[in-house]
Amino acid sequence: MSIKEQAENWLKERYKDMKISEYEEKAQATAIYPDTYKITYPALGMAGEAGEVANKVKKLIRDGAEGMADDWKEQLASEIGDVMWYCAALARDLDVSLTTIMAANLDKLKARQERGTLGGSGDKR
Ligand SMILES: [Mg+2]
Repeated sequence: MSIKEQAENWLKERYKDMKISEYEEKAQATAIYPDTYKITYPALGMAGEAGEVANKVKKLIRDGAEGMADDWKEQLASEIGDVMWYCAALARDLDVSLTTIMAANLDKLKARQERGTLGGSGDKR
């Protein structure tokens, strides 16, 4: 088993049954921004990290997978994790749980699917 596989297995074992609420608590434990910047700080951080995701995907388009680092998928996944951390922080600052946000999003998309409006644009379709 490679070192990468061993690391993945260790992570899976360590967090295998982690609930979203546990993730929120663990993320909270690493939040160090001042209360003055609640909402603003995580919103800006989320945009910045989403930009890092976009930049890596841009480079994938430009250079192709063969031109990327061998671990480009892991790097991209890591950036997704950074986005997730800011999602948790922003949700907490809004006093709404990630679970609630995720469930509401799924409900919204299911309703759009049922109405045949998954495609198209507009927040209220
Ligand atoms: Mg990042």
